Amino acid sequence: MLFNTAYIIICINLFGFSLLSEKILYKSIGLKFSYPLEKEKVAAIQGMDFEIPEKSFVTISGPSGSGKSTLLNLLGLIEPVQEGKLFLLGQEIGRMSEKEKNRVRRYQVGFIFQQFHLFPILTAEENIQYFLTRQTLPKQEVAARTKEALELVGLWEHRKKRPSELSGGQKQRVAIARALAKQPEVIIGDEPTASLDQKNGKGVMEILKEFVERGKTVILTTHDSMVQSFGDMNLHLVDGRIEGGGNVVLA
Ligand code: ADP
Ligand code: MG
Repeated sequence: MLFNTAYIIICINLFGFSLLSEKILYKSIGLKFSYPLEKEKVAAIQGMDFEIPEKSFVTISGPSGSGKSTLLNLLGLIEPVQEGKLFLLGQEIGRMSEKEKNRVRRYQVGFIFQQFHLFPILTAEENIQYFLTRQTLPKQEVAARTKEALELVGLWEHRKKRPSELSGGQKQRVAIARALAKQPEVIIGDEPTASLDQKNGKGVMEILKEFVERGKTVILTTHDSMVQSFGDMNLHLVDGRIEGGGNVVLA
């Protein structure tokens, strides 16, 4: 009897916990960012309030210069928070120590840069391995994850090639494989399908969708309606603001 009661209580707790466990991955309050120029500042982000729950697939659209890349750089801890607040899993990024920020960059965020940022002297395989080694993973784990990621993006047979021997689309897929291999909480990509043809672009989106289905989050900027169709939610930016203004809660 006692056992049964305890069992029921555990079940209720577990069930209740799973209902409450929809965590907010990012939350911003009055987020602003400007680039210093010689005499004046360029206000790239002019006050944003949003919440992005875990397990979301978010796309960010908007005309050129509307602040898309800057917003990704703030979310990816590439640019510092200047004004307002930005929280990652409840922790205020602006208050994190350099050590904490490095831990987040190393383990929690997989960033796909618009210009790929691959090391020219390293092969496709080594470009991925380098980042995994920084996670201090065992050698076998590094090898297994690298193989899995390169196979996923269809580049395993090109693993020994350096970036100069790969096409733009292939380099983009190496950059995507690198982000996936890190097994981060969130993948952030700046137009990650821009160099891909329709077929490869869709293939990559399917892979990212699966990543979200495994409980992770994807945030991408894009001009492409095919990419937007994969998102649970699109955030449209105009002049450094979320169109429509006000609070935006993404779910
Ligand atoms: P998007 O990605 O939507 O094209 P960005 O975030 O790149 O927009 O740019 C937002 C604004 O910030 C634009 O006015 C752009 O010119 C400016 N900007 C972006 N990067 C820099 C920089 N490194 N230095 C100065 N201004 C910048
Ligand atoms: Mg941009």
